[in-house]
Amino acid sequence: MARTRKSKPSLVKNIKKIINLDNPDSYISEPDPSKHELALKAENVSVFYDENEAIKSVNLAFERFKITTLIGASGSGKSTFIRSLNRMNDGIARVSGKIMYRGLDLNSPDVDVYEVRRHIGMVFQMPNPFAKSIYNNITFALTQRGKYSKEQLDEIVESSLKQAALWDQVKDDLNKSALELSGGQAQRLVIARALALKPDILLMDEPTSALDPKSIMQIEETMMELKKKYTIIIVTHNLQQAARIGDYTAFFHLGKVIEYDLTRKIFTRPKVKLTDDYVSGNFG
Ligand code: ADP
Ligand code: MG
Repeated sequence: MARTRKSKPSLVKNIKKIINLDNPDSYISEPDPSKHELALKAENVSVFYDENEAIKSVNLAFERFKITTLIGASGSGKSTFIRSLNRMNDGIARVSGKIMYRGLDLNSPDVDVYEVRRHIGMVFQMPNPFAKSIYNNITFALTQRGKYSKEQLDEIVESSLKQAALWDQVKDDLNKSALELSGGQAQRLVIARALALKPDILLMDEPTSALDPKSIMQIEETMMELKKKYTIIIVTHNLQQAARIGDYTAFFHLGKVIEYDLTRKIFTRPKVKLTDDYVSGNFG
C-alpha cells in the first residue's frame, strides 16, 4: 500500500499506536480505523474562570474514528475541558495551551470560530432544537453561510437524519415543529443538525443524561454507527455507558487528567488507585 503522508510517533504515553498527523493534508483519506490517526490534541490546556484554574495543564490526544469518554466526579472539569476543544469557552473562561487540529492551533485568536465549530460539532445535555421545523433545524446553519439548491438541502436533510437514526420517524413530518419531538428524538435531531455541517469530530457533554433508558440505548447505538465516519468525544457520568461505548477513557479529578488509557484498561486494571476508587464507585 502506498504511503505518501509523513507521520511521526505520538507524544502521548499509553497510546503508542496513534500516529501523529498534525498535517493539513492528513484528512483527505477515506475512513480507515486501522491507521490510528490522531483527530485532535490538547496540549497543556489550562482553563481559568477569573483566578480559578478549573483545568490544569491537560494533555490529551484523541484518536480518529474512536469514541473517547471523559469521566470524573461532578465539578472535576469535564465540561470546562470539552468546551475548550471547539472554542465554546470564548467569552466564559480564559483558555491557555494549544488545541491542535490538522496542524492548526484552534485556540489561536485568528482562527474562524464558526469554522472550528463546523468541523467540531457539539451536542449538549439538554436537547436544544431551534423553534423551527425539523427541516429548517438542519438547514439553518448551512443557509446562513452558503448557497445550496433545494435538491442539495433535501439530500443533506435526508442523509443527516438517516445517520442520526431519525429519518424513518420524521420523514413524513419534516415541516413539523422540532419542539414537538420527544426528548430522545430531539437529541437525535440535534445530532443530525451537527452532522449536516459535515464535521470531523462530535463533542457530546452528557448527551443522554436527560433521556429515558430506551432513548439512551438508541443514542448509544447511533454513536457506534457514527464512529465509523466521525471521531466522538463524550462526557458521561454514567460509568456503564463509558464502559459500553468507549474505546479510550480519560479520568478527570480536580481539573487534571489522572489516567488516560484504553477504556477496558481503565475499567478492569487501572494503574492509579484514584482511578480504581472512582470506577469502583467509591466516590463521585
Ligand atoms: P464537570 O463538568 O466535571 O461537572 P465543570 O467543568 O462544570 O465540571 O466545573 C469545573 C469547575 O469549574 C467547578 O469548580 C465549577 O464550579 C467551575 N465552573 C464551571 N463553570 C463555571 C462558570 N461558568 N463560571 C465559573 N466557574 C465555573
Ligand atoms: Mg459537566
